[in-house]
Parts: sequence; structure tokens; C-alpha cells
Amino acid sequence: MLTANQIRAGFIDFFRGKGHEFVPSSPIVPRGDETLLFANAGMNQFKDIFLGLAPPEYPRAVNSQKCLRVSGKHNDLEEVGRDTYHHTFFEMLGNWSFGDYFKAETIEWAWELLTEVWGIEPDRLWATVFGGDGKDGLPKDDEAARLWTKVTPIPADRVLAFGKKDNFWEMGETGPCGPCSEIHIDLGPDRCDMKDVPGHRCNVNAGCARYIELWNLVFIQYNRQADGRLIPLSAKYVDTGAGLERIAAVLQNKSSNYDTDLFTPIIDRTSRLSGHKYTSKLANKTDNAFRVIADHIRALTFAITDGAAPSNEGRGYVIRRILRRASRFGRELGMHEPFIYRLVPVVVECLGEGFPEIKARAEHVSTVIESEEASFGRTLDRGIEIFADAAERAAKSKSATITGEDAFQLYDTYGFPLDLTQLMAEERGLKVDTEGFEELMDAQRARARAGRVGLAPPNWWAEAHPTGLDTELPATEDVHKYNADACNSKILGWIDNAGFSNAGQIPTGAEVGIVLDKTCFYAEAGGQVGDSGAIETDNSRFAIEGAIRIANCIVHRGKVTRGSFAVGQEVRAVVSKDRSSTKKNHTATHLLQWALQQTLGGSAAQQGSYVCPEYLRFDFTYPKAPTAAELETVERLIRQKIAADLPVTWTVMPKDQAEKLGAMALFGEKYGNEVRVVCLGAADTRDAGRQKTDGRRGTTEDRRAKGARERINNQLSIINESGAFSREFCGGTHVERLGSIGGFKIIKEESISAGVRRITALTGPALNDYLEKASDIVDELSVMLKVPSEALPERVARLLDDNKKLAKQLKSAARLSGSDVMAEAKQLLENCEKIAEAHVITGRLSATSVEQAREAIDMLKKKAKSAVIVLGFEDDGQPAGAGAGKATLLAGVTDDLVKKGLNAGDIIKQIAPVIDGGGGGRPQMAQAGGKNPAKIGDALTRAAELIKEKLAST
Ligand code: ATP
Ligand code: MG
Repeated sequence: MLTANQIRAGFIDFFRGKGHEFVPSSPIVPRGDETLLFANAGMNQFKDIFLGLAPPEYPRAVNSQKCLRVSGKHNDLEEVGRDTYHHTFFEMLGNWSFGDYFKAETIEWAWELLTEVWGIEPDRLWATVFGGDGKDGLPKDDEAARLWTKVTPIPADRVLAFGKKDNFWEMGETGPCGPCSEIHIDLGPDRCDMKDVPGHRCNVNAGCARYIELWNLVFIQYNRQADGRLIPLSAKYVDTGAGLERIAAVLQNKSSNYDTDLFTPIIDRTSRLSGHKYTSKLANKTDNAFRVIADHIRALTFAITDGAAPSNEGRGYVIRRILRRASRFGRELGMHEPFIYRLVPVVVECLGEGFPEIKARAEHVSTVIESEEASFGRTLDRGIEIFADAAERAAKSKSATITGEDAFQLYDTYGFPLDLTQLMAEERGLKVDTEGFEELMDAQRARARAGRVGLAPPNWWAEAHPTGLDTELPATEDVHKYNADACNSKILGWIDNAGFSNAGQIPTGAEVGIVLDKTCFYAEAGGQVGDSGAIETDNSRFAIEGAIRIANCIVHRGKVTRGSFAVGQEVRAVVSKDRSSTKKNHTATHLLQWALQQTLGGSAAQQGSYVCPEYLRFDFTYPKAPTAAELETVERLIRQKIAADLPVTWTVMPKDQAEKLGAMALFGEKYGNEVRVVCLGAADTRDAGRQKTDGRRGTTEDRRAKGARERINNQLSIINESGAFSREFCGGTHVERLGSIGGFKIIKEESISAGVRRITALTGPALNDYLEKASDIVDELSVMLKVPSEALPERVARLLDDNKKLAKQLKSAARLSGSDVMAEAKQLLENCEKIAEAHVITGRLSATSVEQAREAIDMLKKKAKSAVIVLGFEDDGQPAGAGAGKATLLAGVTDDLVKKGLNAGDIIKQIAPVIDGGGGGRPQMAQAGGKNPAKIGDALTRAAELIKEKLAST
């Protein structure tokens, strides 16, 4: 029997044998594609090729793409666990032709692999083709239908035609598209899950589980225009997708994907952890929990590996929802403590061979999952109770609906994502008032916004105009940001709370955002702050506090401090000198990224950064605090590179090329098709890059592709041979040589969330200021302590030591000697009250020790013969009554009075609370300690009262 790893490898080898290049899966968190939260099909990474934006590097490709279908157009979350063949995360095996072979080979090879290589009985397979569409004026795909019976032995009656919904694939509203041909397998009449549905007849695409789709062959031959028309493409493409999990189930002869070796190790581990058994039954609730957990841990491992992290928005919220869902299903297996993270190693065992990246990040993934499980776990059990109450109320209501208030409370207080509440409701046949929920969410958002008033968010105009504004704004030419600190420009308009104005005057004092035709200002992006500076004419000045980008428009935020400006006016834009500090800090973050990986290994991956003139901040994944020695190594490596004064260069190239070069991209960051790669330590690639980029303009369509390919090869060889030690995707501004960074120092290292560390560091002038201040302090200390600065640490250590010794001495010196304590005690005896024969001795001793006070009590008992004694003192060596130390109370009773019922332990118990303490002991002797020495007097007074009452009653 083939293992899943062998099936994957077999697929790849089969197509390699037919001239296909193996291309690794793109990350499940797409980089540079804002339209997509997660990769959901093999074609995602080749989209630019189909769109004609990037030339293919090879005519044929094969791969296994990591897919996640939990959001947007493709969302299979609801199916997970309820059927045996839809997962959130799955692998899509695919072969690709980029303008090379077409339908005949695609069909022939798919059949060959399934039936000859893998030995699936041909009788079980069905094919479908596109049946045509009147509205689009598209005929039936007769070509494919004919080919099926020509290049494979399949009988014509098992080639079925279906409409656009099933057999016409489109990437989106516009763009490449074409008919597809699917291969389905008949799993036998037993597998039909719609036997009870009246009129149901098992068939391909009839909705029952008897026939499932194994492989989709897409023939991309049209380009959908914005007006809906289809234009034939000059190049034709093949894009196929086959689910590895489904194929594994067929080849391993299992009736469920969850019974294949892709899932059983995960389910077994869950079983061992929980003590429950998995019985592989669809209708069984416990089994369902096993399936959901096994599915979700795979999704979590891959998404977190590729840079996603649980949070409250976007991708992060999808991840949080999956994890919370898994946590809640864990409760059905009796798991109340974090346990999902303990499944990560099994996922790595199952899939690490195909996807080595999950091995590298396993520790980070576990850390993140455990921490999120723990924090949700704290409220989950309570939330489940709250839900049960809400559900009970809902069940009684006419509409059988959980109210929006209840759903909101579950979300707000117990962290239940709406879809979790919905899922739980559905299990009980209830609905959720999602509209009511959304209303409450909106109200909460509004409150949060109102709470921010006065804080002036940096995007105030974007907030004032959440939609629509960007379409009215002109584009600003901003390439000058990389090579100029000042430029001559023209004012195109300004933005204020009223929107964009493209005519009129901007008076003195106005606080607006000015838009220029061209600018050398860098707009806030990629963690780097926007430049500050000024827009000037001979008699007016606009002070710019920062620049931001809205769509293609650069907005200079600031205030007219002198004169006024008019739209259309020629002005000079001048960037503040601070920019040079920002550049130093930005280049230093690249050095830091490199040095951290050198020192801590690949698991130290960037999660975010902030670069401003004053300092730099760098967040990275790492499960524990780096040691002081590791941080020193990091600093040393960086300083060596700065001292070597190596060059910093950049070049623009297609994204996939840059990725192939190993250029580091920030997880989750958006990049266009062309990316800027910043190289440290490389020979000067800048001119080559620029020249080729510019040279592209104005060439014809055909030559463009050729030019682009040449340009890429040119850049690749330059960068490959350049000896760069760091290459990163980056649109920021950088120094030209590392030497100008001047120096580097980490001033803080801390944890900011589970598995994420933050380093704050200084360079350039800020570092100089910092060092100057530090050196002044050292000089001052050196004068004060009269030693040279090198000797300061030793001197201070000695001083601290001396200080400790002195404090000890002081403490013992402050205590009275034994005889003094006795003298004080005797004094108390002389002045004490006597009730019948019994002496009532209460009073305070100067600072002393418990032993001495006990001795004093023993002495008093002997001398007085019959006595109740309560003594109090403060025991830190400070003057009595100062109130800073600890309070101690001791009580003693002579045996004759014990017989009469007086009890030292009882007395102590009653008065200890007065000094904020507690205590106890025997009838003859007892002791209490307390935090409030100022109340010793009160405690003694109370003691005297108690004793007198007791004596009076005996
Ligand atoms: P289905 O109709 O079964 O949901 P689909 O039409 O959504 O499949 P495609 O988008 O064509 O599937 O994806 C190509 C292949 O990927 C499918 O033939 C199937 O083998 C596999 N596949 C699709 N969705 C899933 C999923 N959620 N889990 C596992 N495999 C899947
Ligand atoms: Mg589907």
C-alpha cells in the first residue's frame, strides 16, 4: 500500500518524467496578494503568468500546493468532520502547462497516472466536460469530450457534460478562465448519504457522497473582460488540481480521508491524550470532534508556520476562530487543559517530509497555539455554561433563536467567535440573531472610536472618509524619495475633513494634507515612518509632520506656519535631516534580522518592525528570551559589518525571482509583482537594476516579455555573484554604505506576545547622544567615587557589599543588649496593675529579638509568681514606632492562672488582628506577627482589657 508521502512523490515524479519542473508550494499566507486571505488553489502562485504580467520560467510545472479553504469564495469549514473528504487544509497536487501542451496530453496523462500507475479500476472513474453556455455564447467543449474517448479507453456514456457552475473555471470577475474537465470516482452505492431524499438518484454532481471529485483539469483559454466579454488568449494554459487526501483514501482503500496515514497518527495521538476511542463513524459526536481537531491542527500548523498569528482581525482572526473551534471540540473529548499544541509534533511527523518548513517552525507553532489555548481555555468552560443558558432560553422562544445580546456577550466576554456560537446553536437545531449581534458590534466599534477622540489618528482623513476618497485623488510621482532630499513640485490640492479640494487657497494656520504632483517624501510604509520636512516658497512655509500614502497619492500632513499657499503654485519640497537617521535605523533592522538568524537560527523570523529617526524596533519569533551572550554576539556581528563599511544596494525584480534568490520577505506583508530587493554587502547592482527597469518602457508587447526575461537574468546573475549577505524585500530608504550607520546598540529586549520577542536599538546620532549621556554619568561617578572609570564596577560592588554589612551591623546595634531588655521588663513589672494576686503586665519593649522577649517573659513569670504578660515590639532594628518594620506580640501566663482559665494562645489570637497579623500558641506561651507596628500600642491596650475582664470573671 502506498503511503501519502509516496503518493505525493509519485505524482511529482510522474510529471517530472514528462518534462515538468517541480515548483515548491507557495506560502499558505499569500505574499503580495491582497485579494486573498489564504492560498486556496494551486494556481494562486502562477496567477501573474496567466495574466501575462510575468513570463513563465518553464513551460511545464508540477507541485503540491498547501491550500486553506476557510474564508471567501472557497469556504469548506462547515463540511469539516461532517463528511469524509472536505478539509480546511489540504494539499492540491497539480500539473501546469504555460502555453505548452493542452487538452490531449492533460487528459491522457491524468488517466495514465490514475489507472496505470496507481491502478484504480477504470470502471470506477467518470469524466465531465463543459456543456456550453448560451449567455457567454460558449459552445460545449466537444474537443475535450472527443479527446476523452480518443486518448483514454473510457466509454462515451461515462463522459458527462455539465454547465458553467461545475465545469467553467474563473479566477475572478475578470481575467483568465476556461472550461474544465473533472474526474470523479464512484465509491459504490453504500456511500450514498442521500438515500432518504425523495427523488434522489446517485450520479456525478448529484450531491451525494457516492461520487466524489478527485481531479479537476482546467483549460485556460479565455480572458474575461470587464464588460463580461470573453477574448481568446493567444497562449493557452493548463491548470490541474487533485486532492492528495482524497487520492490517498482511494489508493489506501479507506472509506474516509481521516482513515489514511495523513490523519491516523494525529487521531491516535488525540486518542491517547484524551482516553477516548475513535470509531470512524460519521454520525458519532465524539468521532466528529476527533476529525475536526485533526483537521484544524493541520491548518493551524501550516498557517502559523507561514506567518499567521491569532489576532482580532483579518487572517489572524480566521486562525483564532479555527483554534477556538478546535478547543471547544476538545471539551467533547473531556480535554480542559491546553492539548492541541501537543499534536504539532505528529503533524510534523506526517507532513514534514513534503514541507520541511513546518519542521523548522514547529517550536514557534507550539508556543503560539499553547498560549492561545490557555487564554481561551480560561473562559471557555464558563462560556459553554453561558451558552447552555442562552440556548435553553432560545429553545423556549418561538423563533428558536439565540439573541444578538447573548451572542455578543459570548463574543465580548468569553471570546466566542460568532461562527462558534452559530455552530453550537446549529447542533441544537437553533439559530442565532446575527443582525442583532452585528448591531451590537457596530455600537462597540463606535464607542471605541469615540474613546479615541483627541488622539488624532495618523489617518484622520482616511477615517473621516473611509471609502471613496482614494478614487478622487491624483497620483503622485514619488520615485524621488530614493534619490533626493528636495525637489521642485506643484501643488495639486489638499485634503482636510471636507475631502479633497483641487482649487483655492490654503491660509496661514491651516492644518491640512497637501498633495503635490511629485515628491521626494517617503510615505509611511513597511514599518518606516513617513518623512517630515517642509513645503516652501520665498515667503511661505508649510511644516510637514509626516507623509502618508492613500492609494497612489502621497499626502503631506502638516500646518501652514507662514504665508499661504494656492493650488497650482510652484513650491519646493524639502525633507528634514531626520531622514538620514531613519535611513540608518532602517538599514540596521536588516542587519539585525541577519545577525539574529546567524545567532539564533532560522526560527528567529521577522514579525514586524518600526523605524523612525530616534530608534528602531524589531519584532521576531523566538520561543524564549535570548541570553545576554547571544545578544552580545548579535551586536558584535552587526558592528563588524558596520566597521567593514560594505555597500548597500537595491534592485527591482519580479517577486517570484526574488523569492527564489532567497530574498527574505516579511510574513503577511503585501508586495506587488515587482519587488524591490535591498542587498547588504553586494557589489553595486543599483545601476543595472535601474537601467534595465527604465529600458523596458516603450517596447512592444512581444519584446517586452523578452526584455523582461533578459532583465531578470541580468539581475539574477548580478545579485547571485555579488556576495550579498542579506537580501530583503523592502521599499524603504537606506544608507548607501553600512559605515554611515555609525554604531549599533540594543537598549531593550522583551517579550510582546506568545513566542514573539522585541528588540529596541539605537544607531547614528541617537546612539551618540545615548553614549554621551552614559559617559557623562560615568565621569560624574568616577569623580564622586575617586576611581578611574574602569575601576567603577569593582568599586560600586564593594560599596554595595559594605552597605549590606553596615545595615546588618546597624540592625544588631539598634537592638538592646540582653540586660537592657531585662531592665525594661522589670520596669514594666514595677508599674503594673495587680488584680488580687495576679499581675497584669502589658507593655512595649524597645527593638529586640523574639528570643530575648521570651527570656523576659520567663523572667517576669518567675519574679511575679502569678502573672499574665503581653509584650510587643517592632523587629527591624528601627526605632520603635517608626512604623516601617514588622510587629511581634508575645503573651505568657503563669500556671496558676492557666488553671483558672486564662490562656496565652487565646489572648494572642484575639489581639493579633489589631496589628494585621495572626498567631497562636500554648496556654502558657503564645506569639503573633503582624504587618502594622503602629498598632502595637492598641493591641496592648486591648490585651490589658481582655485580661482584666477574664480575671474579673474568675
Ligand atoms: P468539491 O466540489 O468536492 O468541493 P471543488 O470543485 O471545490 O471540489 P476544486 O476547487 O476544483 O474542487 O479543487 C481541485 C481538487 O482539490 C478537487 O478535485 C479535490 O480533489 C480537492 N479539494 C477541493 N476542495 C477540497 C477540500 N476542502 N478538502 C480536500 N480536498 C479538496
Ligand atoms: Mg469545493
